[in-house]
Amino acid sequence: MKIHEYQARALLAGADIPVPDGDMVTSVDDAVAAAERLLADAPPVIVVKAQVHAGGRGKAGFVKVVRTVDEVREAAEFMLGNRMISPQTPPDGLEVDRLLVAEGVDIDREIYLAITTDRTRRTNTVIASAEGGVEIEQVAAERPEAIHKVPLHPLDGLCPYQARDLAFTLGLKGKQVRQFVALALNLAQLFVETDASLAEINPLVVTPATDEHPDGQVIAIDAKFNFDDNAMFRQQAIAELFDPTEEDPDELRAREFGLSFVALDGTIGCLVNGAGLAMSTMDIIKLHGGDPANFLDVGGDASQEAVTEAFRIILGEDSVKGVLVNIFGGIMQCDRIARAIVAAAEEVGFEVPLIVRLEGTNVDAARAVLEEASSRLPTMRTAMDLGDAAKQVCAAVA
Ligand code: GDP
Ligand code: MN
Repeated sequence: MKIHEYQARALLAGADIPVPDGDMVTSVDDAVAAAERLLADAPPVIVVKAQVHAGGRGKAGFVKVVRTVDEVREAAEFMLGNRMISPQTPPDGLEVDRLLVAEGVDIDREIYLAITTDRTRRTNTVIASAEGGVEIEQVAAERPEAIHKVPLHPLDGLCPYQARDLAFTLGLKGKQVRQFVALALNLAQLFVETDASLAEINPLVVTPATDEHPDGQVIAIDAKFNFDDNAMFRQQAIAELFDPTEEDPDELRAREFGLSFVALDGTIGCLVNGAGLAMSTMDIIKLHGGDPANFLDVGGDASQEAVTEAFRIILGEDSVKGVLVNIFGGIMQCDRIARAIVAAAEEVGFEVPLIVRLEGTNVDAARAVLEEASSRLPTMRTAMDLGDAAKQVCAAVA
């Protein structure tokens, strides 16, 4: 599960990590009001930032560093009135409904700091770079040696000596070191406590020296968190941060019915039961020259209602030119699937080719159901095995 930057900033602030003051707003008027409030503190600049579940906002023009209320109004009008397109959004971009209007800071240096689980090492790992900011992907691709990784002990987490070592590696000096160490330790603790799978601060900035702070200040000015969906049952406060408007509506609808749906970009809709079967179904479609448009996993024991919904979701996609149903009935009874196919056909109606491969519990009853309904389902074909099914569906959409 992802959250917005303004929510991530609140988590950081709650963990004693310094973040600038700001407000989330949903209208131009509220953006102006927030700017007026913040300007009373005379910050060096104000930032207006689109709140969407995608990065690359800076380069897309959806992070604006400004000085006046008029500029805030202009930035807010632009962001709320245009879709944001970045390498991390779909090609037609994302609608922006929420903005963060925050105090900005002067920047001396931008650092990258993140914690995630390194599956290869099987440890949580701190990732840091002295070259943070909007070019971090390029740094990682071109000069991987500029990215530092610190594996964490499974029980001890981040240890103070590791954080200090990292501060020196990043070139921090004087009082910056102690600030960074406290911040990194707090972030590591927050990561574990919230069952996060990613906690990223980019950039973590060092502000220029002032009379009040001769060594500058270490402050988080962007934050991104992902959380483990399987932990949400024990993360009530985090679960409440969920924003359904940022999700694919079909994936949400599927979830309501206990189904898992993944949208892809090919032409063959796949209805399967079980994640392993989904993977092998997609492999065999690829092997025969096809491309999956999506897969919908109805799980082991879906109701007929849920399976009907599954068909409605798959067939609702314009890109779907053919559907492959591949069910191995272990717990799931094949005749239930067969009845759902018929029910869905009658309810939704479909014209695309539908290839059905059923095997397992009650398969004979299932074949009888399909046979009986075949006159009402003119585009349906049954297949005797998976290879045959894949060939048929690929031929049908070619
Ligand atoms: P992202 O592009 O979606 O990662 O958005 P960020 O919040 O990281 O902002 C992108 C860039 O905008 C940062 O790397 C900074 O260079 C700049 N920026 C963001 N906030 C401020 C600020 O408070 N002051 C200044 N001077 N620049 C900022
Ligand atoms: Mn950023």
